[in-house]
Amino acid sequence: MAERRKLAAGNWKMNGTAADMAEIETLAQERSDATCEVLVCPPATLLERLARACEGGPVVVGGQDCHAEEKGAHTGDVSAAMLKDAGASYVILGHSERRQDHGETNEIVRAKTKAAWDAGLTAVICVGETLSEREASNTLDLISGQLAGSIPDKANGHNLVVAYEPVWAIGTGKVPTTDQIGEVHSMIRAKLEKRFGEGVGRSVRILYGGSVKPDNAAEIFAVSHVDGALVGGASLKAKDFGGIIAAL
Ligand code: PEP
Repeated sequence: MAERRKLAAGNWKMNGTAADMAEIETLAQERSDATCEVLVCPPATLLERLARACEGGPVVVGGQDCHAEEKGAHTGDVSAAMLKDAGASYVILGHSERRQDHGETNEIVRAKTKAAWDAGLTAVICVGETLSEREASNTLDLISGQLAGSIPDKANGHNLVVAYEPVWAIGTGKVPTTDQIGEVHSMIRAKLEKRFGEGVGRSVRILYGGSVKPDNAAEIFAVSHVDGALVGGASLKAKDFGGIIAAL
């Protein structure tokens, strides 16, 4: 089986204006080759501009969310086809901030993923437990449920990336132990293989996300079944994101 291509994905969240484009110009010098891919997901307002700036270069761009419907009366929302039209090739779906702030359920994430696939986007589906769920020893069950509920049938290594993001590690500086990361990633791999078959299950990339920084990236990337990272805060500065990419 071909090696899974490593992926460093930056999630700018609600940060960034035209003034931050210089960071991308620096990032565009970054490595992205047959074994390693770099993705930046800016706010929707910068997507087209960023896609144009990255055209023909190694960095690809993605959205942070999309609506489940193709078009219609949904004020403020953006469809998957619109993201694609603006130059995106990926979209992050089911981020814990969307699940918490916008009440997104697994069913909603599944519907959005189908819309993303219909538009030709690769979905980066986020799963992860809260601290109280971890403390109640519910982590594996919770994530199994999120995987089963959020991922539609017909997933494969091209249209799906899974990101394991413990909610308590996002933006907090707290990082699970490598054993904790390894336990969850192995479980996710096993679930994907069981549901979609060994070949497909092994081809889907599984990212870790939650306070990844240049100084902890190498240790995290050495964990089995960690195929890269989804990075929030540290993706805003090319120097930090570059340090993470270098560790891939
Ligand atoms: C995220 O929001 O997806 C994330 C991982 O954030 P941070 O890297 O800032 O913890």
